Amino acid sequence: MTGDDTATTAGDERTDVERLDKEYVFGTWSYQSEVDPTEIVGGEGVRFQDAHGSEWIDFSGQLMCSNLGHSADGVADAIAEQAREGAYFAPGFATEARAKLGEKLAEVTPGDLSKTFFSTSGTEAVEAAIKIARMYTGKQKIISRYRSYHGATAGSISVTGDPRRLAGEPGIPGTIKAPDPYAYGSTLDPMESLEYIDEMLMLEGDTVAAILVEPIVGSNGILVPPEEYLPRLKEIAHEHDALLICDEVMAGFGRTGEWFGCDVFDVQPDIMTMAKGLSGAYAPLGATIVTPEIADHFEDELFCHGHTYAGHPVACAAGLAAVETYQEENLIEHASEVGSYLGDRLEELAEAHPSVGDTRGVGLFRGIELTRDPDERVPFGTRDDKISKGSTVVDEVAAAASDGGVYVANMINTLIIAPPLTITESDIDEAVSVLDDALEVSDAAMDG
Ligand code: PLP
Repeated sequence: MTGDDTATTAGDERTDVERLDKEYVFGTWSYQSEVDPTEIVGGEGVRFQDAHGSEWIDFSGQLMCSNLGHSADGVADAIAEQAREGAYFAPGFATEARAKLGEKLAEVTPGDLSKTFFSTSGTEAVEAAIKIARMYTGKQKIISRYRSYHGATAGSISVTGDPRRLAGEPGIPGTIKAPDPYAYGSTLDPMESLEYIDEMLMLEGDTVAAILVEPIVGSNGILVPPEEYLPRLKEIAHEHDALLICDEVMAGFGRTGEWFGCDVFDVQPDIMTMAKGLSGAYAPLGATIVTPEIADHFEDELFCHGHTYAGHPVACAAGLAAVETYQEENLIEHASEVGSYLGDRLEELAEAHPSVGDTRGVGLFRGIELTRDPDERVPFGTRDDKISKGSTVVDEVAAAASDGGVYVANMINTLIIAPPLTITESDIDEAVSVLDDALEVSDAAMDG
């Protein structure tokens, strides 16, 4: 079973919910003939259960978003309270939840980032970032990278580099892709890829509004750049009068053992996008925060953007309670500590299994990349597989883990480990022992 775009196994007997869902609801990012969703009935802590009596350790925090696990009562209470007090007021009114969350984000985000536009998803947060960068600079082009995911709508899929963008191309004009810092799978040295971006900016003249990157690439394989990469990227952007936008939708809110991915490199972007962990996935909430300089620009320029649900009070109440929970329960520090332990345990898997080509990551944001030939680093899953029917060996490993009681997301050639920040060392031991068995599947499928 999985949470997004792979077929799921509901067993021979579908429940009523599964039958209705299959008939009336689109599965995301999928050939609909392959969609077979499992009915989930609940979750508690780092575990969740289906209607057939199975239970899983949530080793990917669903779509790398359930940072608080499945029983953050403080967030649930804040949602219920806000819904009773006043579920919705138009964005033109101020609400306590929105104002206080704005203040809180200015506190926890790096440097002087201070003014936030609220939306309802990561996609919308990225759309807002693109529009703000264009309005602020008066320039149109956005440079992003190939191994990236930034969202599903017209603009955000256009800046996305992974193969899912291909069906929607040409997308919006003015987007350009650059290479990535992918040390394991690319022949280009990560730091050389930066100089390529420098050259691109020079060749594009003064037409580039912003460079948009995930500080640590998430769904496209947990790519951690060298320490000097992000500081140099910011320098390059500013040398060419372009902004640096960091997309923190997946890396943000403690996942890396720091508040944000860019904190790992001590870099403050000009614009930052957030969603997922912002509310711990308890409510749909996105946010785009900018520097005072960018904010001031709109004092006398039209801020030409908005949604009915911009700053929805219930979602903001969830966000405020979620950020308070990270703080009160010291979850960022916990993620850092338990994240090192996770890293060590994944290293052991790499030593035990020849089909594990690479393990990498920071904190509780880690990937296991598989290979059918470690010498040549030949992947089991390719970028083409991402948009083809059928399953890969990587999917089969995830399915074996699922059979053993561990839910783990995978993308292209990498298993993505991003559990709730509340996970303990003993939960990690349990999940790693299941992965240990599941990786026999890829070991057996290796060449030679
Ligand atoms: N940006 C990044 C880095 C993401 O990982 C995602 C989703 O996975 C998005 C943007 C889009 O967020 P959403 O799915 O909430 O629209």
